[in-house]
Amino acid sequence: MSKIFIGVAWPYANGSLHLGQIAGAYLPPDIFARYHRMKGNQVLMVSGSDQHGTPITLRAEREGVKPGAIAARYHQEFLESWQKLGISFDLFTSTGTANHTRVVQKVFLSLLEKGYIYRGIVSQPFCPQCQRFLTDRYIGGTCPYCRSEKARGDQCDDCGKPLNAAELIQPQCSFCDEAPEFRDSEHFFLKLSAFQDRLLEWVKKKDSWRQNVRNFTISYLEGGLHDRAITRDIGWGVPLPLPGFEGKRIYVWFEAVIGYLSATKEWAKSSGDEERWQDFWQGDKAKGYYFIGKDNIIFHTVIWPAMLMGYGNLNLPYDVPANEFLTIEGRKLSTSRNWAVWLPDYLSRYDPDPLRYLLSISMPETSDTDFSWGEFIRRNNDELVATYGNLVHRVLTFTYRQFDGCVPKHSRYDDFSMFLDDLDEGNDIGTICPDMDNHSIDMIEDAKEAFRSMDLLLSKCQFRQAIMRAMSLAQDANRYLDMKSPWKVIKEDRQAAADSLYIALCVISHLSKLLYPFLPFSSQKLHEYLGFAGNVEDDGWRLHSPTPGQKLLPPEPLFSKLDEELAGEESARLRQSSSE
Ligand SMILES: [Zn+2]
Ligand SMILES: [Zn+2]
Repeated sequence: MSKIFIGVAWPYANGSLHLGQIAGAYLPPDIFARYHRMKGNQVLMVSGSDQHGTPITLRAEREGVKPGAIAARYHQEFLESWQKLGISFDLFTSTGTANHTRVVQKVFLSLLEKGYIYRGIVSQPFCPQCQRFLTDRYIGGTCPYCRSEKARGDQCDDCGKPLNAAELIQPQCSFCDEAPEFRDSEHFFLKLSAFQDRLLEWVKKKDSWRQNVRNFTISYLEGGLHDRAITRDIGWGVPLPLPGFEGKRIYVWFEAVIGYLSATKEWAKSSGDEERWQDFWQGDKAKGYYFIGKDNIIFHTVIWPAMLMGYGNLNLPYDVPANEFLTIEGRKLSTSRNWAVWLPDYLSRYDPDPLRYLLSISMPETSDTDFSWGEFIRRNNDELVATYGNLVHRVLTFTYRQFDGCVPKHSRYDDFSMFLDDLDEGNDIGTICPDMDNHSIDMIEDAKEAFRSMDLLLSKCQFRQAIMRAMSLAQDANRYLDMKSPWKVIKEDRQAAADSLYIALCVISHLSKLLYPFLPFSSQKLHEYLGFAGNVEDDGWRLHSPTPGQKLLPPEPLFSKLDEELAGEESARLRQSSSE
C-alpha cells in the first residue's frame, strides 16, 4: 500500500474562489485523492486558507476591518464550497493556527542554525507620501523579465516569476502612485544560492514530470538562484521566534509552503497519533504530490524543495502536476476586473457534477483552456445527459419494468468478474461461452480495457484523457444497446433480452466506478440504483458486476437537461458585472 500525500495550493482568504482556481488546483487533486482512496492506498489531502500576506491586509484596509475578520469570513466560505463541490480534503486548515506558527518557527530556527538563513540589510521601498513601507502587493511596476506592466513587488503573474520590489522597473505605490524611495532595514535571508546545483540535479532526473513544469524549473534554475529576504516590516503574519524583531513578520511565501507540513502534523494530532505525520513525509512508500496553478510552480519546485533539503530528513516533492490557466469566454480571467465565474455563485444555481465534468474534460493540463457558458450547457446536454445519463437511464428503467425491479439472470454467467477472469487467463471465448456473440464479447473487453487504461492515466495525473476514455465507453455501450434492442427482442426471446441487459448493467456499474473520481455525486446515486449498499468509494477500484436477482432501486435520471437560452443569459450577466 502506497502513502499518497496530496498538497494543494493554499488559497488567499481574501475573496471567493473562482473557476480558474478550481480547474487549476482544486479539482485535479480531488480526482487523484478519490482514485487512490478507491485503490485502497493511504491518502492524505491537505490545504488551508492562507490568512497572511498583503492580499488580506489590502482587502481589510479597503473595508476598514481587521485582517483576521476577512480571513475568517472567507475561510468559512471555502469550507462550504468544498463541501458543495465535493472537494474531499482530509484537512482544510489555515495558516492562522498556533500549530502552524509553531511549525514555521521551528523550521525557521533549524535553517538559521544550519546557516541556510542569515541576517542582512534590505533596501525596502518606502512611500514618502503615505509614510509607510511598501511590501509585496503594495507596490507595482514593470516586470524586468517579461515587461508586463502589471507586476507586483512579490511576483509577476504574467510570467510567473517571483520578484523583489527593487527589481521592478518604474515602481509605484499602489495607494497613491507615487514613486517610492528605498530605505535600509535589517532582515533575514534564505540562502537559496546554496541549493542551486542540488536542485538542478534533482529536477533533471524528474523525467515523469509534465514537460512545462520541468522545463520552466530548469530554465529558472539555470538563470541563477539568488538569496531572498524572508521577513518583512509588517504587523500581520507569523512572528519571528527571536527577540528584537517584534515589528517584523515572516514573509508569507516562506511560511505558507510550510503549511503542508504543519497541516499534516495537525491532522496527525487530531487522529490521536501525533507521530503519524511521518507516514506521509518519510520513507520510499510515501509520495508527495503538489497540485497548483502555473503561477505557483517555482515555490513548489525550487523554494519549498530547497527549504526541505536544508531542513533535512523529509521527502521532496514526488510530482508537481501544475496546470495552465483557464480563460473565461475567450478572455484572460481577471478577479480585479470581475471577469470570472465565482464558485459560490455557480453552486447556488447548478449541480456540482456538471461543472466537475466540464472542468475535467477541458482541464488546462498542458495548455490554457477556455470556459464558456455555451460549452458548459452543450456538454451537459449532449454528453452528460444524452450519452452517459441516457445510457444509464434506459438500461435501468427498462430492466426495472421488465424484470420485477431486479438484475436479470444471464444465461451463462452469474458473475461477470468470472468472465473477466476467464478472459484474463487467455481462454478461448468460443470454448468458455459458446453462446456469447462477438458484440457482447467486444463490449465486455472494451469495459475491461477502459478500466486498465484509466488506471494508468489516473496514476499519471492525466485526468482529461482518463475521463474521455470513460465517455467513449459510454458511447460504445449506447451503440451496443441500440444494436441489441432488448426492448424489441424481449417480445420473442426474453432470455436474449436479459443477456444483453445484464451486460449493459455490468458496463454502467463499471462506469459508476470509472467516473467516481470525476463525478462522485452521480456515481454514488448510480451505485445505489444498481442495488449496491454503502459507499461507492469503499467498494474499491474494481469492476464489480451486479448479481442476478439483486434488487434495483426505482431509477431517476442522473442529470438534467439545461435550457440552451441560459448560455446567453449567463454570458450577459458576466459581461454586465465585469468592468472589462
Ligand atoms: Zn513578468
Ligand atoms: Zn503612497
